[in-house]
Amino acid sequence: MIHPRRALLVFVDGVGIGEGDAAHNPFAAAPLPGIERLLGGRRPVREHLDGDGRIVSERAVLIAADATMGVEGTPQSGTGQTALLTGRNAAAEYGRHFGPWVPTDLRPMLARENLLRRAADAGRTTSFANAYPLAGGDPRIFRRPAAPPLVAQSVGALVRGAAELFAGDAVASSITHERWTEHLGHEVPQVTAEDAARTLARIAGGADVTLFAHYDTDYSGHRGGLDAGLAAVAKLDRFLAALADAIPPDLLLVVSSDHGNLEDARGGHTRNPVPVIILGPGREAFAEVRAITDVAPAILNALHIHPPREAEKD
Ligand SMILES: [Zn+2]
Repeated sequence: MIHPRRALLVFVDGVGIGEGDAAHNPFAAAPLPGIERLLGGRRPVREHLDGDGRIVSERAVLIAADATMGVEGTPQSGTGQTALLTGRNAAAEYGRHFGPWVPTDLRPMLARENLLRRAADAGRTTSFANAYPLAGGDPRIFRRPAAPPLVAQSVGALVRGAAELFAGDAVASSITHERWTEHLGHEVPQVTAEDAARTLARIAGGADVTLFAHYDTDYSGHRGGLDAGLAAVAKLDRFLAALADAIPPDLLLVVSSDHGNLEDARGGHTRNPVPVIILGPGREAFAEVRAITDVAPAILNALHIHPPREAEKD
């Protein structure tokens, strides 16, 4: 295996793989020039998967990964994100799917066993690319936290705020900056999805493991309706296409989600599998990936970072 030097995980909330039904699935209805270019003309819809639940192109691999974790009910963000970022079956450990925030009981495990923490424990550098309005220790950030800021906090990487964002050294969770104008109550410098992708590629080029989280896809899914979904998918398509072109050649890029939602515009979470899109060196490490709990271990394996127990045996 060619080991990548570094990795970037782009977490995209609430994106599943549904039927290619253009009446309800924005991934079937929207123009997707960027994603189709990465996937050899195919789309993240069920009909385009091969017999192994994959799409394999020259440039990328897409794996349809189980997000139910063998637990009944509808997958939720708190347990789903925790599973994706740690490799632990957070829904089974908690006893059910829970969200949208990470339940208090799971936070110590998340802080200890997440991808960035494991990398830092192995002496690697880590980075969290998101700008947070309250970065720098404001406890309100953790009232109802998603998993990504908790992961960032666990390695001291929750450090980017407005100054970094407007200096081109952070990415807004919305990719573009409209929400920051709403949040701050005054006009802020705007960027295109392509600008944001190039910023993220530059940030990821400066650390061994980088995390970026995008949540609007889940918001759009909850709002329901095909129009909101089409706008969310169009922005994501432009962002991922530009990101794929901008990342350094030694970087493994993984794009994944916590549960389905956006792929069915009738609204609300689904039990559909979620995409795991892999680009760059290290895709061999994903050969056995079947579920969201396999993603963080595969990234660490690709980077030659082994769990402590295994390392002790060497
Ligand atoms: Zn949701």
